[in-house]
Amino acid sequence: MEKHNLSRMDYKQWFEKILGFYWFMVLISLLGQCIGLMLTIIYYPDGVVSFLLFKIILPTSLQIIIMLVCIFIIKRKKIYSSRFLTITGTLIALVIILTHPEVPGLQVMLLLPMSVALIYFDKSKLRFSFVVNIIALTSIYLLPTIRVSVTEYEYFSYLLALIAGYFIYLAILERGNEVLEIVKKASEKEKELLVKSTMMERLTKIDALTNLYNHKTFQEYLDQFVEQSLKYEMPLQLAILDIDNFKAINDTYGHSVGDLVLKRLADEIVGKVTENDIVARYGGEEFALLLTNKSIEETYQLIEDIRLHIARLNHEEMKDVKVTVSIGLKDFKASLTKLDFFQKTDALLYKAKRNGKNQVIVEK
Ligand code: GH3
Ligand code: MG
Ligand code: MG
Repeated sequence: MEKHNLSRMDYKQWFEKILGFYWFMVLISLLGQCIGLMLTIIYYPDGVVSFLLFKIILPTSLQIIIMLVCIFIIKRKKIYSSRFLTITGTLIALVIILTHPEVPGLQVMLLLPMSVALIYFDKSKLRFSFVVNIIALTSIYLLPTIRVSVTEYEYFSYLLALIAGYFIYLAILERGNEVLEIVKKASEKEKELLVKSTMMERLTKIDALTNLYNHKTFQEYLDQFVEQSLKYEMPLQLAILDIDNFKAINDTYGHSVGDLVLKRLADEIVGKVTENDIVARYGGEEFALLLTNKSIEETYQLIEDIRLHIARLNHEEMKDVKVTVSIGLKDFKASLTKLDFFQKTDALLYKAKRNGKNQVIVEK
């Protein structure tokens, strides 16, 4: 839909441009006629009035009328058809040719409206324009008043010129389409590469089993968040979470069930935290959470909520035996280095383990 609108917009813009070319044709023919008028004043002073009337006023008015009718139809009826433009161009050229039947070679002007079809990169439009201009050329020859000055020989010469023009335009069009195809393929390739590199980047940042950030990405976020916390006094907490007796789960139900439990816990944790928080798989069955924009009390509530939620989860694969986690939670202080911050939180986790597991130990 969007693409359609875009091409419509382009068409409109090109219509304006082509109309501009036509006005230019009218202007050029008026200039030519003015030169003719000057020559008439010098060489045939008696013919000035008739020249003014039949060679300037009448044809120019006719061309202006053709243009105005064309613009009226385009603007009012919103007809953006290239065929309509082709016919308008041919009519303007015809007026120029018919105004000066004695000027040889003007018939090649019919090549100009035909070249307009090139703008559309469309063979059928070019064919239509070719047929219209052949008809225009033949009508000139058939008109008795003009036939006097156009010999059959001339007619066939112009006809051949039009045919030659058609084939040259066709070749230009084919070449244009070929280039277009090359550009299209190149941009497709570029898009493909972009998708691939995005996927690769994701692979280097995300843990495949849990879809959480991996250890390396966690370290990057930790650096970044500590820096922000120091700079803007942003509240920041770190929670390290370790599954209790996970080895026993693996030993009893198998490694694949262990994997399932890991993935389930990861999803549940992500579902509980806010969009300002980061959840990473820090080690085998350890998760690290960076929590921001909350007081330590609010974060403690959230972490305790996560612990209780996990302890209540059912695990069908383990005959609904419950899985619990131990958590160390620490508030960041400007006096701490990044390493201190992590080690102190880790120490809190081990305190929770020593205290009997399935609990949160917090330190402000
Ligand atoms: P604790 O309560 O003290 O944490 O005991 P634990 O058994 O959880 O701790 P331990 O460090 O002894 O065991 C952790 C186990 O986690 C050992 C390892 O086989 C398992 N593990 C680590 N990564 C994965 C994994 O990706 N999938 C599965 N299924 N198991 C994993
Ligand atoms: Mg464990
Ligand atoms: Mg562990």
